Amino acid sequence: MNFLEERIARDGVVKPGNVLKVDSFLNHQMDVALLDQIGLEFHRRFAHAPITKVLTIESSGIAIAYPVARAFGVPLVCAKKSKSINLDGDLYTARVPSFTHGKVNTVIVTKKYLTHDDHVLIVDDFLANGCALQGLISIVESAEATVEGLGIAIEKGFQDGGHRIRNLGYHLESLAIVEAMDPVTGAITFRSQD
Ligand code: 5GP
Repeated sequence: MNFLEERIARDGVVKPGNVLKVDSFLNHQMDVALLDQIGLEFHRRFAHAPITKVLTIESSGIAIAYPVARAFGVPLVCAKKSKSINLDGDLYTARVPSFTHGKVNTVIVTKKYLTHDDHVLIVDDFLANGCALQGLISIVESAEATVEGLGIAIEKGFQDGGHRIRNLGYHLESLAIVEAMDPVTGAITFRSQD
């Protein structure tokens, strides 16, 4: 098991409805040393790519994407989920159904922060059905920028998002792929990724 799989096995909590709770270390209370390690690992996996921006979606993607952007030394762009008075000018938008909240969000990026010469690494905490990633991909495509790859902390391999994104031909790296999880026993099985 790698460092993230070990932590999930120790502190992850399986909830009914295919939800894995990692809020003691990843998205409520955050283990910043673990997040730094995640940033360095994505930097290692995408070191060949000419990344100019890291793109994520608020809010739980931010903690993962920050150390990644830091490791590459590039700006982090965070897609917003609602139009606030602080967003002005021309906007890229995409409609994204939320796995955890059961509603559809419009995600928004101000046009000046993504341009056609950008090479983008998309980062998020979880991959389930792939709606968040597909929304972010469509925003990068609207900007005529290049998707260099996608970095996910935890992919739930029993949902079809990973399959769909890989079938579209994108380079997707997931640090941990959960193959199965049982809300009764709490058991979590990982896909081997040698
Ligand atoms: P997707 O769009 O791939 O269906 O879902 C991905 C998004 O839903 C992620 O941005 C993540 O915030 C949230 N998500 C999906 N599954 C889980 C889960 O099992 N646990 C947590 N904490 N978040 C999840």
